[in-house]
Amino acid sequence: MNRITENTRRILGELPEGVELLVAGKGRTADELMAAVEGGARIIGQNYVQAAEPAIRAIGNLVQWHFIGHLQRNKAKRAVELFQMIETVDSIELARELDKRCAGIGLIMPVLIEVNSARESRKAGVFPEDVVALTRGIASLPNVRLMGLMTMGPLARAAGECRPFFSGTRRLFDEIDSLALPHVQMKYLSMGMTDTYKIAIREGANIIRIGRGIFGER
Ligand SMILES: *Cc1c(COP(=O)(O)O)cnc(C)c1O
Repeated sequence: MNRITENTRRILGELPEGVELLVAGKGRTADELMAAVEGGARIIGQNYVQAAEPAIRAIGNLVQWHFIGHLQRNKAKRAVELFQMIETVDSIELARELDKRCAGIGLIMPVLIEVNSARESRKAGVFPEDVVALTRGIASLPNVRLMGLMTMGPLARAAGECRPFFSGTRRLFDEIDSLALPHVQMKYLSMGMTDTYKIAIREGANIIRIGRGIFGER
């Protein structure tokens, strides 16, 4: 069996009930992604709209496509045509643009807020203290549906050092859930990558995003 297919099967087999695998597909060919689909992958994440198009054309609706990169507003129109979830909303301006583009084609887009949980100045995402305000803003938009939070955690540190940032994001998730805002349906907590996913699951992640653990190091 193909190594990619095998890695995908193994990771899926280890996941607790209710935790979903997102295959982080940046820079991988449609054939590589297809090998992961053969191993049972049902969600593929992409970081760039244009670069994702050939793979989306080749694999289509065998999987769900999640956008996990930094989304520029001028790519929002194409993004809502191609993806079934945007995990990286980080401003009300982007949320409004997505809302407008979704209204134009008559769909409601599930979105997550990307949290800059380690408050790193050069990292994408919203600082934890600003997440509730953005939540309220998104809740007022009819064509996007807030369904949870996504975080990367701090880069280039030992896996265990991610734990407080994952648990902090989890607490924020619970806090927003308890507000019971109309049109907000807190369901997904997307955190953990190849080196950190086991910790993330213990801290409540129900989507983990794996690249190297499936495809190998570049
Ligand atoms: C690349 C990427 C991942 C996966 O990282 P690995 O270390 O390769 O598992 C997860 N999330 C995002 C947003 C990514 O860009």
